[in-house]
Amino acid sequence: MRIPMVDLVAQYRDLQSQLEPALLSTLGAAQFILGPNVQAFEKEAAAYLGVKHAITCANGTDALHLALLAANIGPGDEVITTPFTFIATAEAIAYVGAKAVFVDIDPQTLNIDVEQVKRAITPKTRALLPVHLFGQPANLQPLQDLAREHNLVLVEDCAQSFGADFGGIKTGAIGDVAAFSFFPSKNLGCYGDGGMVTTQSDEVAEKLRMLRNHGSKVRYYHDIVGYNSRLDEIQAVVLRAKLPLIDGYNQQRRRVAHRYNAGLAGLNLQTPHEDGLGLHVYHQYTLLSEQRAAIQQALTEQQIASAIYYPVPLHQQKVFADIAGGQSFPVTESVAARCVSLPIYPELSDAAVDEICGVIRKALTA
Ligand SMILES: *Cc1c(COP(=O)(O)O)cnc(C)c1O
Repeated sequence: MRIPMVDLVAQYRDLQSQLEPALLSTLGAAQFILGPNVQAFEKEAAAYLGVKHAITCANGTDALHLALLAANIGPGDEVITTPFTFIATAEAIAYVGAKAVFVDIDPQTLNIDVEQVKRAITPKTRALLPVHLFGQPANLQPLQDLAREHNLVLVEDCAQSFGADFGGIKTGAIGDVAAFSFFPSKNLGCYGDGGMVTTQSDEVAEKLRMLRNHGSKVRYYHDIVGYNSRLDEIQAVVLRAKLPLIDGYNQQRRRVAHRYNAGLAGLNLQTPHEDGLGLHVYHQYTLLSEQRAAIQQALTEQQIASAIYYPVPLHQQKVFADIAGGQSFPVTESVAARCVSLPIYPELSDAAVDEICGVIRKALTA
């Protein structure tokens, strides 16, 4: 059975009858930028997340960039983050002229290691930037305590964690500011690029609204240098249709993950660890195995997709060679050498999961 990493067509088929009339009427209304659906989605997303302000923007990378700008992070500042994430997390730090300080990850959750964060704080540290990797919330309580103690800004990278919660509070509602991505394959995805920043602060929200729209509060009056980074109306229509379904989607992702766990039990590999501090929403289902190549080859032979997120940690990327200064992060490096992600999406059937588990079991016990 051919099985892709994600199947956006299956989800579209389910939404088609509701979505197509809504999209067509948006085309007819011809209010494509900062229109009524964008405003409505921002209200609905803020209510869902339990946060005072949600400000949409063009993509998740911009969301991180604007979040750091709104928090006044800039040249001379250090931002502590994880080297085991998508490049955008650290790119955003570079965009504002600050320095990314990488620290190693926890070998179970693959999220930033709080003890290492503590040791990396210097007088130049201005922000902590944890990533809720693969949909599992980072351990936010001690990070928030550290941020308060050292007067740091806590910025959450929620690109992979829409709908996840930490101790019953949604990710994106805990940090001072948080960044989301609506890239099509994210847990909540639109049909192009999209992003959002959340904050409880009126002041930060006002600055974000200006930054995303050419530094302007009143049209053609510009107070600061801003950007063109807006969510468009068509994407907002898609997101409004999907937002009420996100808990169901995430529940289905958890069904798939738990079925994988059962189907792969007893094999010589590490299945994802849920730390129990919150709700893991499985943006990815990622195994660690010394026999990664054999697993991938067996899956490929059966036309089953798999992927390596991420093969090269950020401190080993050419672009960050100077800031990483040849440091090594043993846990991150070991994980990057062994990780392999399996297909996961809400519509993935139990039968498909069972087939994938069977292929892996055969590859590892042959
Ligand atoms: C996807 C992603 C981003 C960037 O989002 P885009 O919308 O693709 O710009 C940032 N951080 C993480 C962890 C991501 O997975």
